[in-house]
Amino acid sequence: MLKVKLLGLIFFCLINSNAIFALTIKGDFLQGAVIRGSVEPGEKIQFNQRWLSLSEQGEFVFGIGRDAPANLTLVVYKNNQQKQHQFAVKKRQYNIQRVNGVPQATVEPSKAQQERIAREAALVGKARKEDLGLSNFMEDFKWPVVGPISGVYGSQRIYNKIPGNPHYGVDIAMPVGTPVYAPAGGKVTLVHSDMFLSGGTLILDHGQGLSSTFIHLSKILVKEGDLIAQGEKIALVGKTGRASGPHLHWAMNWFSERVDPQLLVGNMPK
Ligand SMILES: [Zn+2]
Repeated sequence: MLKVKLLGLIFFCLINSNAIFALTIKGDFLQGAVIRGSVEPGEKIQFNQRWLSLSEQGEFVFGIGRDAPANLTLVVYKNNQQKQHQFAVKKRQYNIQRVNGVPQATVEPSKAQQERIAREAALVGKARKEDLGLSNFMEDFKWPVVGPISGVYGSQRIYNKIPGNPHYGVDIAMPVGTPVYAPAGGKVTLVHSDMFLSGGTLILDHGQGLSSTFIHLSKILVKEGDLIAQGEKIALVGKTGRASGPHLHWAMNWFSERVDPQLLVGNMPK
């Protein structure tokens, strides 16, 4: 086996007597990461026993969860042969963040509000199930808004002194009306002007289950079904839903797995 690490790209070339397996991987294996890569024509690949979709060029993507175990497995298949790859997943430390001043009903919703939250979550879940044949997930992702980061992925959140779910996204604090630009191209799969917790909500699907969700928006400038290019203006920052002030919350998913957008875009530009 030949293993070469070059500028964050890892190439594996496995040669045996009957078949050649080639796997290219881009991304570090750590909790919350999005991993992109490709296999050679004729090859198929499984991640943790799930078949990955492949583009015409053999490109694939998958996400590693916030609390993923220390090891994961990729298996490349060609003809009747297979090669297993084990990867160590780096564990991350998540902080605790206290957020005060959000509307109390968003922390202690009534029965009717809980039902509304469940209905809206089902719409979001349905949009995130899509497995679109788009390859925008391979693009070089850009920050949708440039500004101060006020919340990071993974934090244990305490809202108005009541523990909530971990924070699955990155928050960028900017005034209401600040433009939000598409971090990569994709198809709009959900537009909702007023969800109970997330307010103005927009989902942009980048293909093969990788999607961006933008919430607390004051205005959405696109509609469901629109195909969007990277850098297009898609929405305006707001403070709708469970927000204590104006900011963009940008979440990313690989299907239902919640991943960290910040790992895809790197440092915030100055
Ligand atoms: Zn947030």
